[in-house]
Amino acid sequence: MSLEDESTLRRELVVQYKRVSALGLNELASGNLSCRFGDGMLISPTGASGETISEDVIVYVGADGKWEGPTKPSSERMMHAAIYRDYPDARAVVHTHSDYCVAVSCQNKPLPGFHYLIGVFGGDDVPCVPYSTFGSEKLAEDAAAALNDRSACLLGNHGMICRGRNLRSAVHLAHRLEIMSRQYVLTRQLGEPSHLTPAHWQDFFAKVRDASYG
Ligand SMILES: [Zn+2]
Repeated sequence: MSLEDESTLRRELVVQYKRVSALGLNELASGNLSCRFGDGMLISPTGASGETISEDVIVYVGADGKWEGPTKPSSERMMHAAIYRDYPDARAVVHTHSDYCVAVSCQNKPLPGFHYLIGVFGGDDVPCVPYSTFGSEKLAEDAAAALNDRSACLLGNHGMICRGRNLRSAVHLAHRLEIMSRQYVLTRQLGEPSHLTPAHWQDFFAKVRDASYG
């Protein structure tokens, strides 16, 4: 990739990082964003906020996990790297500790198919991987495995992570998952909601396929 591609991606990463912060999904810099670049990735540095992020503090991390420069890449870089390794079509990854995703993740159960827009993530629920220490290989491998047939998963007692075809779509998914988690928490206050049936899902995914190819 050319240097121009790199500067475009750095600029887009800053724009989307600020957007995640503006949406309230990244309070006190608990989240991180990356995009695939060459054999490695460009990733937000540890501790950046919407105010302090800039193109020159974004860190390139190679496929071997090595980086250079004055800023340290996010401590969750292994989770991002495992997703790029396993999914060639993943071009961007977003990880957050947004309020409602955390609230649901602390139940250590999948976010169920209570609404048809759960299907946006690729199936009839959004899985939740068990808790592991932040930055650990176990967390990275569990998260990557959970994204096999989904674009997002919850991280038990931690937050969420998702993958997209570009930064903009990954941020959109992170926002969508926060909305769906919030709506689930709301409906849970009235009791466990009904879930869509296998027949409903079959119709939903047929409709999505028609819309994509029509
Ligand atoms: Zn985290």
